[in-house]
Order: sequence, then C-alpha cells, then structure tokens
Amino acid sequence: MPCKKCGKKILCSDFCRSHFVDYVENKVRKTIRKYKLFTKKDKIAVAVSGGKDSTVLLFILHKLGYDVTGITVDAKIGNYTKVNLENLQSVCKKYEVPLKEISFREEFGYSLCYIRDVLKSKGYTYSSCTICGVLRRYLLNKYAKGFDIIATGHNLDDEAQAFLMNIFRNDLTVARRQGPISGVGKTKKFIRRVKPLFNVREKEIETYSKLHKFPVNYNECPCSVDAYRKNFKKFLNDFEEKHPDVKYNINNFFMNSIYTENKESKVNIGTCKICGEPSANDKCKVCIILENLKS
Ligand code: SF4
Ligand SMILES: [Zn+2]
Ligand SMILES: [Zn+2]
Repeated sequence: MPCKKCGKKILCSDFCRSHFVDYVENKVRKTIRKYKLFTKKDKIAVAVSGGKDSTVLLFILHKLGYDVTGITVDAKIGNYTKVNLENLQSVCKKYEVPLKEISFREEFGYSLCYIRDVLKSKGYTYSSCTICGVLRRYLLNKYAKGFDIIATGHNLDDEAQAFLMNIFRNDLTVARRQGPISGVGKTKKFIRRVKPLFNVREKEIETYSKLHKFPVNYNECPCSVDAYRKNFKKFLNDFEEKHPDVKYNINNFFMNSIYTENKESKVNIGTCKICGEPSANDKCKVCIILENLKS
C-alpha cells in the first residue's frame, strides 16, 4: 500500500518517510494543544533517560520551539546508564539543549544496585524498578523546581498497558492518575507532569528515532523485572496485529470515562518530617527506603 498522502513507498503507519515525520510531530502538537499541556512561555524540564522515547520527546519539543531542558537521574546501573548518559550528552550538545544531570550516588551515596542488594539482604522485597521509580520521581521533583512543568516520554503503548493493568488490579485510584496530565495534579509542592507522546505508538517512536539516527540504547535495562507488565505488552502487541486500533481504543475509553484533569482535590499532600519534600504521610517513601537501608 502506498503513502496515504503522496503515493510513495510507506515507511511506517501508512506514511512515507517525510509524511511520517510530519504525522508524528503533528500528533505531539495536537496533544499539547488539545490538553493544554504547556505553552511557549513555559520552562519545560524533559525527564530524559537516554532511551528512545525521552530522546524523541526532547528533540520534537525543541524542534517545535519550546523552551526545554533535559533533566536526567543516573541510577548508576553499571555500563547501561553510563552509555545512556554519554548518548544524552551527545544529543544535547548536538541540538544545543541544556542538560541537568543528577546522580543516585551523589544524592544518596549509593547506586541503585547497591541499594537493592542491601535491602534484599535485610529481607525487604522491593524490586529494582520500585526503588528506582520512587527515588527517581523524588529527585526529578526536587531538581525540577524553577521549571513550570515536567514532560515525560510515556507513549500510547505505556498508557494502554497501564490502564489494563489497573483494571486487572481493580485499582481505580492509580488509574485516575493516568492520562496526558498525570500524577497528583498541580500543587505548589509537586510540579505537574505531562505526556506529550500520549498518542504516539512505541513503534512510531522507534521508527522516528532510527530515522534521525539518534544515539539511543534500544536494549532493555538489565534490572527490568516487571514480568507482569511484559505480559500485557505482548498481549496488546499480538492483539494489535489483527485489530490495529486497539491501543487507541483503550486510551479513548479511559479518556472518556475515568480521566480527570483536576486530580489535586483528591490528594492531601503534606511534608515529609525528615527531608521536607512533599509526602502524603509523615515520612516520604524515599526516607523510609533510606532508613531501611541503614537500619
Ligand atoms: S527498568 Fe526499572 S530499574 Fe531499569 S531504569 Fe527503568 S525503573 Fe529503573
Ligand atoms: Zn508521503
Ligand atoms: Zn522524606
């Protein structure tokens, strides 16, 4: 089948090379506009990991003329994060985008792998991704102060998988935090998080990234153990082969039924009595993890 627009050979999603690039960038533009994610006046911190999604996001927002800074939290996962950081540094240098680097070791004194192993030896059963997610979200919020918004690279596939997982767990509270404007909403303590790639398929992001020859790591993180999510990913990808719109349909169903932009009224946020960062309880999750580590 030829390109829907010009009849040339198809690269991806029914478009030729140049119309595919326009198609992806237009989807990002439309998502930003439709959900009023941010404007050209906002200072945007783009949470970057060195993977394809966040690199593509940083590039497109920069190309569209937004005021972006990359912000990365290095969890110190051996060679994997070392290469990711080098890749990020080269992308940011090439496109002249500032990059703010934060490191687990400088902030907490240890790498993710060390924290996980010590906690395991003490009988705590946190997975690498749980520890990594909690610590990284905390650092991002802490170091993105001064920015108006944090943009993350979550894509259509991530959102559809997460919604199905929340249904399977009957977890309406977590499901309500999904969507193009995510987390607990806009408060003075939490910087709002948004997902401009909400409508872009993972396959499209990978194609866009390869087309631009971005130096990104397409391999999986060696600590990734979320077998539960991997099942949903496989199931949705298999299903999509016969029913191409399934991921869009899941996300549209979510947006038309559960999504709420005004999440702040549902969450009572105080301050952690140890570190002073925002927390729903007396002690934040990070301080609990660090206490368990030292106990
Ligand atoms: S896969 Fe898990 S451990 Fe690896 S970077 Fe992502 S959250 Fe961290
Ligand atoms: Zn074309
Ligand atoms: Zn704390």
